[in-house]
Amino acid sequence: MSSLWEQRAARNEGLFREVNANIAGLEERFGATEEPLYVCECANTGCAERLAVDLQTYRRVRRQARLFILRPGHEDPQLERLIERHRDYLIVEKLGAAASPSP
Ligand SMILES: [Zn+2]
Repeated sequence: MSSLWEQRAARNEGLFREVNANIAGLEERFGATEEPLYVCECANTGCAERLAVDLQTYRRVRRQARLFILRPGHEDPQLERLIERHRDYLIVEKLGAAASPSP
């Protein structure tokens, strides 16, 4: 397990999607918690904010390759279109070239 600093230094969307996928796997095995576990998937490479997203919502977002979860205020209207606004997080759709295919 790499340190948070290393995670931040190596940050890219693919990596953080992987981090979040691992978190979802743990929740499936050990049960969901109220803790804000998921990492913000915004374009800011220095961001390591945690988001309280429920597992069902996470899975719904992850089924669509262009959807991402972000901290409110971290969205970039040039890159993303707001899909849903929640108390602790936003669901956005990446526009154009910013959208990367899922692995
Ligand atoms: Zn962020």
